[in-house]
Amino acid sequence: MGLKYNRILLKISGEALGGEKGTGFDDPTMEAICLGVKKAHDLGAEIGIVVGGGNFWRGRSSGKMERTLADKIGMLATVMNALAVSDKLNQLEVPTEVFTSITMPQVAQPFTRNGALEAMAAGKIAIFGGGTGNPFFSTDTATALRAVEVSADIMFKATMVDGVYDKDPHKYPDAKKYETLTFTKVLEDQLGVMDGTAATLCRENKLPILVFDLADPDNIPRAVQGEAVGTLVYE
Ligand code: UDP
Repeated sequence: MGLKYNRILLKISGEALGGEKGTGFDDPTMEAICLGVKKAHDLGAEIGIVVGGGNFWRGRSSGKMERTLADKIGMLATVMNALAVSDKLNQLEVPTEVFTSITMPQVAQPFTRNGALEAMAAGKIAIFGGGTGNPFFSTDTATALRAVEVSADIMFKATMVDGVYDKDPHKYPDAKKYETLTFTKVLEDQLGVMDGTAATLCRENKLPILVFDLADPDNIPRAVQGEAVGTLVYE
């Protein structure tokens, strides 16, 4: 059966790895997420993953610490998460290769486009740690960047809500969910679904983003097959 998306870049927020607490690693939650990834992989999708770092650290909420230093700590947190997700996938017998944007060859492969493409072509899931390798960026932007670099068909942003709403659905019961949306509207209306840098990069490179709920990890294989989950942001 043909897939709707053959090569995807999946963003998993760090917070999602922490389960209910939202901090550190929650093993059952990580296993559930990775099982969803495995199902999409079993369908034949080529998959790259960027993991955030918010379960350990966020540079922008680091108080008085000098920002670029705080962001370095954040980037290192994403490397820890990349290793942990890789290990969990390996436990489920899914092969992986971890790449980092900041070279630390004793820990993982330095990121190169060719290396990532070779790993994915060999049936491995490529996991990208370290964000973009630069302060003042986010892992959303890192996902968009890696997605365009490896010519992915789409970026999947798996989050804690089931799509993009016109206002916060947790605060306003009458909030309306969008089925589809343009990047221009996301930017103009400042819909806090992703940061502006990521949205701009996607718009300029015609990379669509599907925003959907990770609470049900089966949404990952559903989305790969083109089932209507979440909100599709395009153009
Ligand atoms: N970070 C960075 N450059 C990047 C990506 C991430 O400096 O290209 C740092 C930044 O401090 C950020 C932290 O890593 O707060 C964790 O990433 P993010 O906030 O995107 O994680 P998430 O909220 O998705 O878990």
